[in-house]
Amino acid sequence: MKVHEYQAKALLREFGVPVPEGGVATTPAEARAVAARLGGKVVVKAQVHAGGRGKAGGIKLGDDAAAAEAAARQILGMRLKTPQTPPEGIQVRSVLVEEASAIERELYLSITLDRARATHVVMASQAGGMEIEEVAARTPEKILREWTHPALGLGAWQARRLAFGLGLAGDPFKQGVGLIRSLFALYLGKDCSLAEINPLVVTRDGRVLALDAKLNFDDSALSRHTEITALRDIHEEDPLDVEASKHSLNYIKLDGNVGCMVNGAGLAMATMDIIKLAGGEPANFLDVGGGASPAQIENAFRILSSDAAVKAVFINVFGGILRCDRLAEGVIAAVKTLGLRLPVVVRMEGTNVELGKKMLAESGLQLATADDMGEGARKVVALAREAA
Ligand code: GDP
Ligand code: MN
Repeated sequence: MKVHEYQAKALLREFGVPVPEGGVATTPAEARAVAARLGGKVVVKAQVHAGGRGKAGGIKLGDDAAAAEAAARQILGMRLKTPQTPPEGIQVRSVLVEEASAIERELYLSITLDRARATHVVMASQAGGMEIEEVAARTPEKILREWTHPALGLGAWQARRLAFGLGLAGDPFKQGVGLIRSLFALYLGKDCSLAEINPLVVTRDGRVLALDAKLNFDDSALSRHTEITALRDIHEEDPLDVEASKHSLNYIKLDGNVGCMVNGAGLAMATMDIIKLAGGEPANFLDVGGGASPAQIENAFRILSSDAAVKAVFINVFGGILRCDRLAEGVIAAVKTLGLRLPVVVRMEGTNVELGKKMLAESGLQLATADDMGEGARKVVALAREAA
């Protein structure tokens, strides 16, 4: 799960990571009020779940409250298009108004999971403010890394080594060490999958601040952080993903035209692979779960088929907890209730498979069946191609 910059900064502050003073606004008048309270120069920043806002015109500096109001009027409501947004952009619904910082240096700091090393990695670089992917590709030596210990966490000596590598000295060095340790405490305490500060700045008056903040949270850990789920902004998510998560369906929209309905994440991955092997493109990843009920199958069908790109549906189920006859019952009911017109190919195996196949054959519906995954994939890809 992602959150907005202003929400991330509230968490940073809570954990002792210094951030500029500011407030969120949803109207130009509110932006003016926040700026008046702050006094002095301000920066007005579009709040969307995507980076690259600066270059796209989503960040403006203003000298006073009147300028903040004017900037907010320009930014609020605009569709911001950055390399990280969908092609059509994201509509800006709120802005963060902050005291402007006089920047001396822009640095980079982030923490994420290193799967290869099976632990967290803290990354820092003096090349802040720019695309870190570019720095990593062109000058990888400019990125410093410290891997944390699974039980001991981030050592104070590691934080010092990073702060030293960032070229910090004197009081900013001390601030930097504290900031790195606080950020790690937040990352760990809130089960983040990413904490990224780009840029981390040193101001002309020697303060070290998080000027930007991006926090992503591990969805599987959200059940223990109701305070984080409360920050969710569904305007920023794909409507089909939102609908799917309401029904606890594990759905991810993709770009192809073969809709997939599968039980089990591993089988769902294998199904996408075999569709590609048959020359097709999956329209989604969908795991309906081990014990899917007929109602759940109907929900899955509704979400699948409301993606206009879908030209055919492949149901690939191993009947374990979910018996094949129950699946057949669910599929038949769903196709009837929804009046589904799409061609459907069903491949199932497991408990009561013969009964399930018989039910599908006798349903009077246009449901093709397949005896194995390869055959099913070839059939559904051919059907999707015909329909497209
Ligand atoms: P992003 O483009 O979405 O990553 O947004 P950032 O918050 O990182 O801002 C982009 C750039 O705007 C920063 O790298 C800064 O150069 C500039 N910027 C943001 N806030 C301030 C500020 O308070 N003062 C100054 N001088 N520049 C700022
Ligand atoms: Mn940034």
